[in-house]
Amino acid sequence: MCVVCGTNDETEYCKRHQSAYENLVKTYDIWQRATELSWDEYLGKVIENEFTGFWAMEVAQRLKTKKG
Ligand SMILES: [Zn+2]
Repeated sequence: MCVVCGTNDETEYCKRHQSAYENLVKTYDIWQRATELSWDEYLGKVIENEFTGFWAMEVAQRLKTKKG
């Protein structure tokens, strides 16, 4: 079941949230080469960014509130 939207899938994320998640990780990789941003700070920036896509926003918000 998708942990974000609850879609009945066998994986942690449904297809849309999975691809949004992968994009977040990829972008963080690039950012990290240029900045000293931690994963958590990066997620904060993604959430604050009005141009962040809907699916990526949902994933980022969930990752940010998740402990551990
Ligand atoms: Zn989902």
